[in-house]
Amino acid sequence: MSISQMGRSIVDSPTLHLNEEARLLRERGLPVIHLGIGEPKNKTPITAILAAANKLNSGEVKYTPTDGTPSLKKAIIKYTEENYNRIIDPENVIVTNGAKQSIFNVVFSVIDPQDEVIILAPYWVSYPEMVKMAYGVPIIVTPKDGTFYPRMEDILEAVSSYTKAIIVNSPNNPSGMVFPAKFIQEIVEFCESKGIYLIMDDIYHRLVFDGGKSVPGYQFTQNDIESTKVIVANGVSKIYGMTGFRIGWVIANRRMVEVMTNVQAQMTSNPATILQSAAEGALNGIQSYVESLRLTIENNRNVVMQELKSFNGIRVNKPQGTFYCLPDFRAYNEDSIKLADFLLKKALVVTVPGVQFGMEGHLRLSYSGSVKDITEGIARMKWALDPESPREIYIGDRKMIRDWL
Ligand code: PMP
Repeated sequence: MSISQMGRSIVDSPTLHLNEEARLLRERGLPVIHLGIGEPKNKTPITAILAAANKLNSGEVKYTPTDGTPSLKKAIIKYTEENYNRIIDPENVIVTNGAKQSIFNVVFSVIDPQDEVIILAPYWVSYPEMVKMAYGVPIIVTPKDGTFYPRMEDILEAVSSYTKAIIVNSPNNPSGMVFPAKFIQEIVEFCESKGIYLIMDDIYHRLVFDGGKSVPGYQFTQNDIESTKVIVANGVSKIYGMTGFRIGWVIANRRMVEVMTNVQAQMTSNPATILQSAAEGALNGIQSYVESLRLTIENNRNVVMQELKSFNGIRVNKPQGTFYCLPDFRAYNEDSIKLADFLLKKALVVTVPGVQFGMEGHLRLSYSGSVKDITEGIARMKWALDPESPREIYIGDRKMIRDWL
């Protein structure tokens, strides 16, 4: 069988792969705890459900413009004004099949073969693959050990005449860090002055804790939407917990939106019509959903930090946003794939190996699930790894005795 070099070079999505493994174990009746997936447990906002149901009941479910329905764009324009203090036109917005497609559209539209895109480690696993799919070169900039975002000097060192874009994701998946305003300011000013696109993946921008805020890149540029190099990707997946609806969007200049619309028109056409209505319902509906989700997750973050405190040997930076944290497990195992595999087999806990985010020796733990799963999952991990923890534990209704430490 002949498979293209490009096709072969794309790695599978580790989280989707882990989900599948966990599903198979659960199917065998094993009590797996999933600290791998980034998906809030909340119910879909009622305004989203009603809007989708109305659309379906109308029986008028047809193609929409490729770049999204005018009414959803209107809701996104309002959202952008309220959350980013930017007035934009419909021509500055493209609605996509999830923020994943948003970022792919941008990358595909701005880079030529061999162009470089700077990606800050730890990074969302899809960025390097998307750059490769556009025949570009991902350039990874890694922070100093113990920190979760690189210094500006390190980024500047990685910039070359081939650099077309830098991707920044704050609040960050997988570390949960919110980058300081000063850092965002420096990178915005740098990109504006050098004509390098700054792709800001803002998918978690309202899931910030302790009264903090994620600062929009737009705040640090005087350039208008047509001339700024700042491009914003966002969506309903995380903020409203609407992961299954697959609606995202990009805010960019008109020409860029035109190009992305052509790309999308040849790949997927418009995002599903009913799901666009749902996103519109969420954006136009009561926003207390977002706050209640944020509070639940902040509480989960506190539980995770409390549980991890008693875990001898790991180091963890307190997450300031998202629903992830990225503890350093090197005291137990330098190889995060082996460690994640060990934890799944021995403790039936799913985690994601840090190496897949460019941070070997770490594991990403998601705290988007229930408090019960978080506490039990961490207790099982402690049991499997920490020789000072009790040798016996119940996993489901089976008493397990540790015989490897
Ligand atoms: N960016 C980041 C950083 C993410 O974590 C995710 C989802 N895991 C996405 C983008 C894609 O989100 P969506 O579900 O809207 O495609």
